[in-house]
Amino acid sequence: TLALGLAACSGGGAGSTDDSTSGGGDGGAGQLVGVAMPTQTSERWIADGDAVKEGLEAAGYKVDLQYGNDDIPTQQSQIDQMITKGAKLLIVASIDGTALANQLQAAADAGIPVIAYDRLIRDTENVDFYVTFDNYNVGVQQATSLLVGLGVLDEDGVAVPDVAGPFNVELFAGSLDDNNAHFFWKGAMDTLEPYITDGVITVPSGQTDIEQAAILRWQQETAQKRMEDLLTSTYGGGTKLDGVLSPYDGLSRGIITALQNAGYGPTRSDAKPMPVITGQDAEIASVKLIQDDVQFSTIFKDTRKLAEQAVSSADEFLSGETPESNDKDTYDNGVKVVPSYLLTSDIVYANNIQALLIDSGYWTAEQVEKGQ
Ligand code: BGC
Repeated sequence: TLALGLAACSGGGAGSTDDSTSGGGDGGAGQLVGVAMPTQTSERWIADGDAVKEGLEAAGYKVDLQYGNDDIPTQQSQIDQMITKGAKLLIVASIDGTALANQLQAAADAGIPVIAYDRLIRDTENVDFYVTFDNYNVGVQQATSLLVGLGVLDEDGVAVPDVAGPFNVELFAGSLDDNNAHFFWKGAMDTLEPYITDGVITVPSGQTDIEQAAILRWQQETAQKRMEDLLTSTYGGGTKLDGVLSPYDGLSRGIITALQNAGYGPTRSDAKPMPVITGQDAEIASVKLIQDDVQFSTIFKDTRKLAEQAVSSADEFLSGETPESNDKDTYDNGVKVVPSYLLTSDIVYANNIQALLIDSGYWTAEQVEKGQ
């Protein structure tokens, strides 16, 4: 709803462009920085865009912030235009990580440094730095929270003795053109694999390849449809679903809708309980679902910190320095290993929403109140 309203303005509307002057700082000397974000259909990217823009303006830069509406040609032309407008640096969260080689070649030809934001840009040498979270560990945390929800691990990650399996689990992955989706999947599957091998967890549909589990562009409706199809193909005969690995809150909400329509829940305490469902991003609607005992967990990645890191890295490049990385080995983009700065993430359960999300000022208590 929020998403659709905002998305409707992108691509040239008033909401999508922001060539602002201003800035309280003095370092930037009014140089233009282009910021390309993928979509407004998810809260996190709106928060990311706003925070990066604010941070850059406070450091004295002008900002051209654009949202690509999850459409590759739109993002390509937005970046082309940033270069034409004279941007001195680009911060890019790509839609398709492999689709920007031409744009970034033009940037390199013009001497413009490029920072990949959250998502790695692949197949080009023209990406100078990468700010993100430890994406493999996000996947580990997603699978860990699934195991906690099933009662296989306690909340400290310690194995619970004598658990009664097997638990029926289905697996979802993100968009295959997003490098992160592969890291989340790998972290999660490395964590689940021993339990699958032991028979504590089974995947009744047999769909255990990322290609089968992937949801193009991270679309909620596509996830809902896939869950409906799985229920029809595999759970028609009364087999009970116990858990769903979901890598993003938007997908989780589509999965929850499919399950509720099929008679699960509505909560985890009902006679045919909602399965254990994971997520990512701590979106407001999903945090409420966790408070309401519908979704089990999500992963909190503090986008304020990521934005801060992007801004300080940009400032260093534009002052002729090289930003400091804390990871030089992980992110091979197919042409080179991109020096990276990785931030950490946390698992959110009902009992730590207050500490992680409210006390830190990420959301207010009113925003994520119980009850819809
Ligand atoms: C981000 C996640 C987000 C997903 C869908 C990924 O690249 O890292 O935070 O949930 O895209 O927008």
